[in-house]
Amino acid sequence: MCGRELGLGPWWMTAPGRGVHEECAAWGERPYPFAAHLRRLRALRAKLGHAVRAVELSIEWFERMQGRWPSDAQRILRRARRWQAALEQRLRELGFDRRG
Ligand SMILES: [Zn+2]
Repeated sequence: MCGRELGLGPWWMTAPGRGVHEECAAWGERPYPFAAHLRRLRALRAKLGHAVRAVELSIEWFERMQGRWPSDAQRILRRARRWQAALEQRLRELGFDRRG
């Protein structure tokens, strides 16, 4: 654009084999380059939000059962397995493994 050597930068590749100084590029003619990154971040935020809500529900239940221990022990033991399995299933659905 300006004819100077690209040098050490900052510069950007605008096409294969074509670079332009950062301060010389016609940024106004280009769409926001981080739109795809932003979409990924929003998707990650949604996924994390779903995981946090699932974990919170599980914490609430296990805390409530702690207060009923040991008088309700047998019932708690039976239901706890379902709660554990449901949380693991939900986290797997969201792409987290049980340790993730
Ligand atoms: Zn330039």
